[in-house]
Amino acid sequence: MRVAVGLVLCLLLTGLTPIASASSESDEEAWPGEPIDNHVHMTWAALTMEVKEWADDNPDIVTLIDAGKSELGKSLWVVQISDWSMETKANGKAKEIVYIDGGHHGNEYLGTALAWLSAQWYIEGWNEGNQEAVDALQNTEIHVLIMLNPDGNDIDTRWNINQVDLNRNYDHYWNTCPTTQPGSAAFSESETAANSQYMNDYVSDADLYVTMHTGVWIMLYPWGKWASQPSDWELFYDIREDVHANISDIPIQNANQGLYPNCGTSRDYGYGVMGFPTFTFETDDEQFVPGSIEALNERLGEEMDVMRYLITNVWYWRARLDVQSIQVSDDKVTIDVDNLGHASTTNASLQYVDSSGQVAWTSSLFSVNASNSTIASLDASNFSYSKDGTWQLYYQKRVIDASKWVTEPLEINATLVEDDDDSSFLIGYGLFSPTTILAGLAVISLMRKEEE
Ligand SMILES: [Zn+2]
Repeated sequence: MRVAVGLVLCLLLTGLTPIASASSESDEEAWPGEPIDNHVHMTWAALTMEVKEWADDNPDIVTLIDAGKSELGKSLWVVQISDWSMETKANGKAKEIVYIDGGHHGNEYLGTALAWLSAQWYIEGWNEGNQEAVDALQNTEIHVLIMLNPDGNDIDTRWNINQVDLNRNYDHYWNTCPTTQPGSAAFSESETAANSQYMNDYVSDADLYVTMHTGVWIMLYPWGKWASQPSDWELFYDIREDVHANISDIPIQNANQGLYPNCGTSRDYGYGVMGFPTFTFETDDEQFVPGSIEALNERLGEEMDVMRYLITNVWYWRARLDVQSIQVSDDKVTIDVDNLGHASTTNASLQYVDSSGQVAWTSSLFSVNASNSTIASLDASNFSYSKDGTWQLYYQKRVIDASKWVTEPLEINATLVEDDDDSSFLIGYGLFSPTTILAGLAVISLMRKEEE
């Protein structure tokens, strides 16, 4: 039935004529629009009905946000999906945040479809009691802006209504490379301005941003602007290795080399300004064969496997420092620290907070490589240890300058051991409960098993 409604709206709103026989399947999995030519097309009106229905039917997990208007005044809907009965994870820690958008280019329907499907998979999974979906929504907020360019979408064009390429309109080295139609200034268009506003207002702590397009079957990480690898190359290489070993052969490359030099893109903005790990996910350009009734979730099944991997493991897409021990002596503090995350950090410091809550001492900076350990010896000649204070770590989640800083108290049950030299030895269990870590590892190994 939904399919039929989509069909009627298509005709009324876009005047696109050659619509063949509507498929009679009222398949819940199908794209709620109609194949037009060799594309699969969903109008903004059909999307609006769909996302409102999601929110009405699933108030426990779906919140619908109007993130701003297109140049023609159409709402840019963001579907926020999480277990909203819990503000945090069960262990009291903040949930991880994932941001997804689709439809920058109005004629790249399959990319828009992948964004739609990413939202739908978790909503349906939750309702069916799928453990992976339930775990994800209890530990993660997934924000999906499915159709960023509804004006262009409804008239089947790459550009927005002002003939601007929205994915060249972001405020990151805007118009500094050969490009067409980047707009009159960075964020000159209401769609890109709204998207960056949403990133800042709702998902500034995101540990994953995927922007979905259609063209060459490839995943692109920063930079588009430069051929050089990004500061967090280890994280991107690690993800590539994992995806290729266990999920898909999709090429994963630096955007500049994998595609062509480009600038002012949402991907480079997301990484270079917001500090997110970002991917452009390009589905291939075959779209649908005319007359095909292949279900969308089968057509994009492999792409969804990659998305599910990225979302399930989002906890790892940053540095995660876990202190094993801290040793205090007269003139130095020695810290033994693991990095459980898959991104490095180069700007970490250890801080001592006195009983009044003031930071009484900050160490010099130290680095901990991704998935690695470090024993750092820190100068403490200006540090007077008082035994009644607490410790915390202050560091950047990733290497890129724009990356967020975090302050994490050490949950150390301080066991003070005096040794012969009058120095003290503190032993603690670090930041994260062993249960969380084990749960995370279990998920990864489960996913690997499935693929074999
Ligand atoms: Zn595109």
